Amino acid sequence: MHSESNPLGEFDLIQRFFKAGADAMHSNNDKGIALGIGDDCALLWPVAGEEIAITSDMLVEGRHFLPNANPELLGRKALAVNLSDLAAMGARPIGFTLAIALPKIDTVWLDAFARGLFAVANQYSCPLIGGDTTAGPLTISITALGNIPSGKAIRRSGAQVGDDIWVSGCVGDARLTLAALRYEIKLPEEDFKQIESRMHTPTPRIELGIKLRGVANAALDISDGLLGDLQHILKQSQVSAEVFLEQLPKSATLQKQSESIQNQFAATGGDDYEICFTAPLDKRSVIDQISKELNLPLTRIGSTTEKVDEAKRLRLLNKNGDLLDNAKTVELLKSFDHFAK
Ligand code: ADP
Ligand code: MG
Repeated sequence: MHSESNPLGEFDLIQRFFKAGADAMHSNNDKGIALGIGDDCALLWPVAGEEIAITSDMLVEGRHFLPNANPELLGRKALAVNLSDLAAMGARPIGFTLAIALPKIDTVWLDAFARGLFAVANQYSCPLIGGDTTAGPLTISITALGNIPSGKAIRRSGAQVGDDIWVSGCVGDARLTLAALRYEIKLPEEDFKQIESRMHTPTPRIELGIKLRGVANAALDISDGLLGDLQHILKQSQVSAEVFLEQLPKSATLQKQSESIQNQFAATGGDDYEICFTAPLDKRSVIDQISKELNLPLTRIGSTTEKVDEAKRLRLLNKNGDLLDNAKTVELLKSFDHFAK
């Protein structure tokens, strides 16, 4: 242990908390990493016929997490949200870089952070290949890289008129957890335990993304809320959509809440990191098969339609197929930024 009178230098810190964990993974990697941590750059072998997907996500203390946030969960989440972006395009992880600003060298904090980070890195075979470490207000910035066969990336712009709209897993639990933490809703302890990991440790749907190559026309991961994020697909694909509000997939825990809470959290709650995608009707049986193979519910929630004017881009229907009146839709979505034009 380093005592306070003998503080860790920057290089010792990188070695102890980051390079050691990365080395433990490198032994049997077939990811095309020619050189990892230790030089001025990492080196990758380009793979013939593959494109490289690159994504960055930053977590800033006070903005994305509270000052007392659990460092292990933070390590997990910081990498998981980046892997979720790779998943949304159908990429397979290659590796990631970590740029981190630390207000002080707290070895207990760093140990826990690295434990969480490498748990996810190992789970998804995604080694740490470089980064930067500096003093400053706590900020964690990860850049993840992945491979996709050329032309197979699932873009937001690919949805076609008449596609089914699908969602993986269930939505709204991360928002319900937040509501409980903020005392907006009183949740029995056992209910809270059922769902809290959905907010702290989202599951990047890497295998789903890979299986959706050539199946889905468009996809994205849900970070800000299902209906708001879906609008990115609609906008970029120049289509409109009808969504059955009652068909949004909800956990048993969320289903114990009032109907309006259920609908609002499922429709607009952020931080679920599920995948929303569109696919032609003739892919329904393939998609049901994928759902079985992955043991992951995939639910049809609506369909895309011919482009109509912007205000009606997204129409919400009740279970009888009747259009929800505008006031109700506005009420449902009023907490939601992306709708505030
Ligand atoms: P440079 O000054 O050339 O940018 P650094 O001294 O910052 O290099 O980093 C030395 C090596 O350690 C580099 O290979 C860099 O990628 C790696 N590194 C620095 N910080 C981290 C980190 N937080 N996680 C992983 N690798 C890191
Ligand atoms: Mg250098």
